[in-house]
Amino acid sequence: MNIDTNAFCTFLEAEVLGENAQDNLTITNISVDSRSLLNDEHTLFFALQGKNHNGHIYINELITKGVKYFVVSEDNLPKETSGVVYFKVKNTLAAFQKAANFHRSHFNLPVIGITGSKGKTVVKEWLNFLLNEEFSVIKSPKSYNSQTGVPLSVFGIEEKHNLGIFEVGISTIGEMERLEPIVKPTIGVFTAITEEHSEGFESVEQKIQEKIKLFTNVDKIVCEDDIRITSFLSKDKLYSWSFENREAQVFASLQNDTLIITPNAKPSFEVILPFSDNASVRNILTCITTMLLLNYSTEIIKHRIELLYPVELRLQLKDGLNNCTLIDDAYNADYQSLVIALDFLEKHKINKSKTVILSDVFRSGFEEAELYGLVRSLLLNNNITRLIGIGNHITEYLYGIPNTYLFKTTEEFLQKMSVEDFSEETILIKGARAYRFDKIVTALETKTHETVLEVNLNAIRHNLNFYRSKLESKTKIMVMVKAFGYGNGSFEIAKLLAHENVDYLGVAFADEGIDLRKAGVNTKIIVMNPEISAFSAMIAYDLEPEVYSVRELNAFLKVARERNCYQYPIHIKLDTGMHRHGFLTNELQELVELLKTTNVVEVKSIFSHLSSSDMPEYRDFTLDQINMFTKNADYLMSSLDIQPIRHILNTSGVYNFSAYQMEMVRVGIGLYGVGNDEEEMKQLHNVSTLKTRIMQIKEIEDLESVGYGRRFRAVGKTKIATVPIGYADGVHRSWGNGVGYVLINGQQAPIVGSICMDMLMVDVTAIDCVEEDEVIIFGQDLPVTLIANRIKTIPYEILTSVAQRVKRIFYEE
Ligand SMILES: *Cc1c(COP(=O)(O)O)cnc(C)c1O
Repeated sequence: MNIDTNAFCTFLEAEVLGENAQDNLTITNISVDSRSLLNDEHTLFFALQGKNHNGHIYINELITKGVKYFVVSEDNLPKETSGVVYFKVKNTLAAFQKAANFHRSHFNLPVIGITGSKGKTVVKEWLNFLLNEEFSVIKSPKSYNSQTGVPLSVFGIEEKHNLGIFEVGISTIGEMERLEPIVKPTIGVFTAITEEHSEGFESVEQKIQEKIKLFTNVDKIVCEDDIRITSFLSKDKLYSWSFENREAQVFASLQNDTLIITPNAKPSFEVILPFSDNASVRNILTCITTMLLLNYSTEIIKHRIELLYPVELRLQLKDGLNNCTLIDDAYNADYQSLVIALDFLEKHKINKSKTVILSDVFRSGFEEAELYGLVRSLLLNNNITRLIGIGNHITEYLYGIPNTYLFKTTEEFLQKMSVEDFSEETILIKGARAYRFDKIVTALETKTHETVLEVNLNAIRHNLNFYRSKLESKTKIMVMVKAFGYGNGSFEIAKLLAHENVDYLGVAFADEGIDLRKAGVNTKIIVMNPEISAFSAMIAYDLEPEVYSVRELNAFLKVARERNCYQYPIHIKLDTGMHRHGFLTNELQELVELLKTTNVVEVKSIFSHLSSSDMPEYRDFTLDQINMFTKNADYLMSSLDIQPIRHILNTSGVYNFSAYQMEMVRVGIGLYGVGNDEEEMKQLHNVSTLKTRIMQIKEIEDLESVGYGRRFRAVGKTKIATVPIGYADGVHRSWGNGVGYVLINGQQAPIVGSICMDMLMVDVTAIDCVEEDEVIIFGQDLPVTLIANRIKTIPYEILTSVAQRVKRIFYEE
C-alpha cells in the first residue's frame, strides 16, 4: 500500500522524527513482531509495549535488518541514519489500531463482523467457504481476533476484495469500542454465548452488552433467538434463527441428521447435516441464516452445507522418525495461514534445517501468477532449507528455487520419497484438505499407540501472563521446567518460554539442562540439584549451579578453576525452614569467608524455598521463612558487598504473598494449569489432556467378573469397554476399582476392577459409544486436581507420572 505521509501523521497525531520522510511511503508489511523473518525495508514496525514486552528494544536489531519505518512512543531511539524514520506517538497500541482504522477508511466493502463466546472461528471459516465463490473474501487468518489480531487482519484488505469476514474477541470492558471502528461491520453475527472466558466481566449480561458494541453501525444482526442476546438488540435489525419461536426470521427443526428450515413467509427446505453435534448444528444454522440474509438460493445453501468440513485450527508439533520434528497443518492452505505457519516453524524449530511440504495455495481474489510470486518470496524470506511442493499449480510456478522437489500428487510424493529422505529436520506439513497430507504425517511420524498427552501451548502462555499480571513489571521470572516440564515435555515448553522472554529456566539435574542447550535453548538455566560428577559438563553447557553447601561449593570451585572460569554465575540457596537443602544461618559466615577470597564465581542470586505457601493455616510460618530469608540475604549482601537477585516465591507464593516478590519469582505448577484454590483455577487454562481410544467393547452377564482378582462383579447385563492405558502409563492403581472414572463422549465411565499394567476396563452400560471412541483420562473436564484429591496425592505427582512412552503432542491454536 502507498501511504501519504502527511495524512497518515495527521490521522495518528504523530510527530515525524528524522530528515528522511518522503511524501509517499510504500509499505508492504505491517509488523509488531521483531522476530518475523518478513521484516524488511518496506515494513512499518509498531513498537508495542505491554506489561512484559517492549518493541522499542528491538529497533536497533531491526535497523540492521533493513527496516526503516517505526511507530514509537519512547525517547532515546537509535540515530536516524540510513533512511530511518520514526513516527512518534503517545501510545503505540492506540496508534496501531488507529492506523488499521485509517486503512479501513479507504475501502467501502460489506463486512461481516463475528463475535460471541464460542464458535467465532468455525463460523468465520465456514462462511468463507460458503461465500467465496461469489465474493472475493478477505478474512481474519486462524483466530486472529484480539486487540492486535483484528488490526493485523484488517490491514490485509485490498482493492480487489468485495467482502470482509472478521472475527472479534474481547476479554474485558472497553475493548470493543476500539475494535468496532477498525472492522466497521455492515452485518453482525453473534455466535453463542457461554459462561467461558467471563473473568474480565462482572456478569454474562455485561459480557453480552460489551460484545454487541461491535454492531453499533450494522444493518442486520444474525443470531440465535436467545432472549439474553436479543433483548439488547433493536428489533428491526434482528435476523434470528430459532428452534422454538416461529416468529423468528428463520425457524428450524431437527430430524435425525436433517435440518428443516422455514424462513419467514417462505416455503420450508431441508438440509442434510454433515455433523450432528449440538455446537456444529448451531454454527451451521448461523451460517444458513447469514446466507438467507444475503439472498442465497435454497439450492446453493443445501448443496454447500453438505460439503462443510471440520475446522482444524491447531498447529500440532509431533515427533517424527529419524529425529525429525513435524508441524502438522494438513487441513488448509490459504496464503494468510501459510504466513502464520512459517512463523510458527521458525519459532518452534528444534532442528537447524527447515523443510516445508506445501500443497497448492489459495487466496481469494488473486491471480495465480501473482499469488505464487508472493508464495515464492515468502518462502525465500523465511530461509527454508528445502521445499517440497505438491499439486498441479505449485509445480507450475515454483520451479527453480534451490532444493525444491515438485510432485503433481500426494501419491506420487509418497511413492518417490520415503522416510529415509528426511532426518534431523523440522518439517512443516501444510496442505489443503483435499491433498490428504494426513497420509504424509502418518508416514513420517513416530509410531506409537493411541495414547497421547496433548499439550496446549496457548494455555501455557495464558497462564504465564496470568502470573506476570500479579507481578511488578520489573520483577524477573524463572520458570521451573524440571521433571520434563512437569511431565509435559521440556524442549517445546522451554522454546516457548524463551520466546516469551522469561529470565531463567530451572531444571533439577544437569542432564535436563544439557538437553535443552542441545535443542537450541539459550535462556539462562539454573540446575537445582547439581551433582559433583556433572560440574564439568555444566560449565561446558553454560548451566548455572544452585550452591547449597560449603562442600559442594568447594567441589565446584575446584572444577571451575581447572576450566579457568572467571566470575562464573552461581545461585546461593538458603534453608529457611523447608530443611531440604541450603545454608542454615550458622553456616553463612564460613560461606562468606570462602566467597570473599575468590573471583572464580559470582553470586548472581540468593534464594530460598517456601514449604507451605499454599496453606493458609501456615501463613505465619511462611512469613517467618520470608523474614529469615531477607535477614540472611542482607547479611550476605553486606558482607560480600554484592547486589544479587533475591527470590523466594513459587507459584502459590506469587498468588498468596505477592508483596514478597523481591527481584524474581519461580513459577512451576501454575504454568501447567494447576492452581491451589478454585478462584485461582478459574483464571488458569487447562494445559494437558491425557487421552486414548476404546479398544474393545463387550457385554457380560449378571455376576460375571472383570480383571485380576475378580474385584468387579456385574450386576445385571453390563457393557464393558477396554481402554489401552494402565499404571505403567501413569494411571495410579488406586484410581481403579470403582474409585475413579474416565470421560467418554462427555460422560463419566467408572473404572471397574483393578487397573492393569497397560490396560483398564470401564463400565459403559449407560453410555452411547463404540470402539475407537475417544477416552479422556484427565483434562479440562476431569482435572488432575480432582483425581489427586480423591486418591490422596497431589496434582504434581499425577502430571509427572505420565510415562515417557506416552506420545506428547503440542499444539497452538
Ligand atoms: C519446583 C520448585 C519451584 C516451583 O514450585 P511450584 O509449586 O511448582 O510453583 C520453585 N522453587 C524450587 C526450588 C523448586 O524446586
